[in-house]
Amino acid sequence: MLEAKFYETYYFCNIIKNILHYPDDYLRKLNAFYGDGTIYYRLGTFRKYSALHELIEFIIEDVYYEQADEKFLSEKKALLERFRELPILLRHMRPCTLPIERALEYHQMTHQSFEAFLDNQEKHFTDCNADDVYEYILELRESGIFELLIEHITKEVFHVLFQNRELVKVFNIMMADALEREEDSTPPVEIEELFSKPGILKRVAIPKWVRRAVFYRDRGRCVLCDKDLSGQVNLENQENYDHIVPLAKHGLNDVSNIQLLCKECNQNEKRAGEAVTSNKYQSWYKY
Ligand SMILES: [Zn+2]
Repeated sequence: MLEAKFYETYYFCNIIKNILHYPDDYLRKLNAFYGDGTIYYRLGTFRKYSALHELIEFIIEDVYYEQADEKFLSEKKALLERFRELPILLRHMRPCTLPIERALEYHQMTHQSFEAFLDNQEKHFTDCNADDVYEYILELRESGIFELLIEHITKEVFHVLFQNRELVKVFNIMMADALEREEDSTPPVEIEELFSKPGILKRVAIPKWVRRAVFYRDRGRCVLCDKDLSGQVNLENQENYDHIVPLAKHGLNDVSNIQLLCKECNQNEKRAGEAVTSNKYQSWYKY
């Protein structure tokens, strides 16, 4: 069970949506994720912590590291200065508390506060700098708590985004493009066996947990023609687990790249060979 706290979950969902829809605005960031051969380290064969989880994690970490910034800190110091005479207001605003601490508090994860961390070094918030924030996050990492927090938020964000087939399609096209760009390079030895030829991953059996997840997300219906594939209404309709971005088009063996189709739609789609999905969902009830 995932105990969802929905703390900043939609905030991160929105950031990731923007990145996927406007990748040109985030090229430098994204390049660190999949460029210059790093795509190879995002590949695997249906890992539960999927490629989409990895993108989410990458972005959340990046957002938290943005706190290690002089401009961000000077704004907080200015607040502290401006409201110095109003301790009640300051207690409410807590300018010395970093966003990462608020997230940890919300998740009830015990940690040392940034102020206590500074105190240990006989420093005060008014004279701390970006390096102190880096050091503080590093300490949180060493204690393991940072990773725990990021992993938890990542799973919540994945939980929301996985349901959005158009968005996961955009993600998978982006990953496929990155893999295609590596066609002329040699993959690291450890993952050589994942490939059938350069830039193309081998077809593998789709694990049961993937089929279950996709079947439930797509409500047991073909996402293109809405045919019932549960076997309860019609035993003749067969379910097919389809790669949204085909393997032949550099698609990944990733849970985010699978959807439920009927046999006929699957064959039609194979013929066309392009990434296809739909944004039609069964509503909770009829309007
Ligand atoms: Zn169909």
